[in-house]
Amino acid sequence: MSLEFEKQRRREVRPTDQPPEGATSADAKPVISFAPAKPGKAPAHLADVDAKGRKQVLKDLGLPGFRADQLSRHYFDHFEADPAKMSDIPASMHDAIREGLLPELVRQVVAQHADGGMTIKHLWELFDGARVESVLMRYPQRTTLCISSQAGCGMACPFCATGQMGLTRNLSTGEIVDQVRQAQIACRDGELPGGPTHLSNVVFMGMGEPLANYRTVVNTLRRLIDPSPEGFGLSARNVTVSTVGLVPAIDKLAKEGMPVTLAVSLHAPDDDLRDELIPINSRWKVGELLDAARRYFVATGRRVSIEYALIKDMNDQEYRAQLLADELNKRGHGWAHVNPIPLNPTPGTIWTASTRRAQDTFVATLRNNGISTTIRDTRGSDIDGACGQLATAVKEANAKRRSINSDSTSIQETR
Ligand code: SAH
Repeated sequence: MSLEFEKQRRREVRPTDQPPEGATSADAKPVISFAPAKPGKAPAHLADVDAKGRKQVLKDLGLPGFRADQLSRHYFDHFEADPAKMSDIPASMHDAIREGLLPELVRQVVAQHADGGMTIKHLWELFDGARVESVLMRYPQRTTLCISSQAGCGMACPFCATGQMGLTRNLSTGEIVDQVRQAQIACRDGELPGGPTHLSNVVFMGMGEPLANYRTVVNTLRRLIDPSPEGFGLSARNVTVSTVGLVPAIDKLAKEGMPVTLAVSLHAPDDDLRDELIPINSRWKVGELLDAARRYFVATGRRVSIEYALIKDMNDQEYRAQLLADELNKRGHGWAHVNPIPLNPTPGTIWTASTRRAQDTFVATLRNNGISTTIRDTRGSDIDGACGQLATAVKEANAKRRSINSDSTSIQETR
């Protein structure tokens, strides 16, 4: 079948077929935002600064600088954040340390288990009541944590639950790093079936656009990668920053000297569709984004992941798979890996995941063009897996509980 024919045969579904959440008119456009609705900064935390900075904070608190090393090892090696549980820290210092360096930043609201316990999704509450999610997933060869870098998100992608919330605020380095510490504890303490394990991978694929919170995210990357007592000592290649496509920030990240993996949320190979599907495409077009992704590969030697949510009859046609392959091959071979993921439909959406057949054709087309491609699994889809869905579900369940004064909803807060 010719590509032109296929294009005409099926009516294509468009992102504009459904008005954005909360829209008051049918032709309302998604609104991008870089400005937090609720600016505010989390209390200062040990993980916000490097070892030198921690010494300075201690001095400012009137405490000896050498305690910084001890505290850092407790935090990054033993995942301990309560000074009262650190036997080498004098009791007289506990309160000052708790206040100035180790305040409680993320508090568990809900933990949901799925995939036979191999997936744990957490909803955390922050100091100001903002809520974010993280998801821990155990696989045979690795254990991956998906973390949030912002409360909400300002990128307004219409198929994403977080995108519908808007941006509440940027997280601090401490708030992001502490999600990782909590996961390290879960791994160590055997909360995932199969016995104790180590956290091996971290992906910035939870709530938020990491490159819109650039400085904090780069600072966080250092805490994740630098060895103890500076940080957790994870391997840079096992840390993935996923972006909607903020081109100047991609170029900046390439120069930070940290070979982390870059994932680009492309979702469409043509500006005609991507302009509607990923609102920031109005600023940086597909061609500019792929050029930046290629530059990232050249600068770091890290193969770039191209993320592609397969949405039925919207972006899953064979001709779009071919166009994607052409756009990638035009820029070189072996520099990108495509990760299609069947859409995880958000509540109330008119869009659905591509059929199995369309997925297979899409993957085969890419592979036939020499592009390495693997369908991403949909871990946790039975627990509001797509980012932002748990936060929304808990909010709605609570609203319902309040209004009907019943506790029959299935999602219970643990506090
Ligand atoms: N802001 C970053 C991180 C977002 S979440 C980014 O855009 O890359 C990580 C990935 O999940 C992104 O590729 C995002 O487009 C995708 N995603 C969001 N909602 C989804 C859904 N409902 N189904 C499938 N993938 C989704």
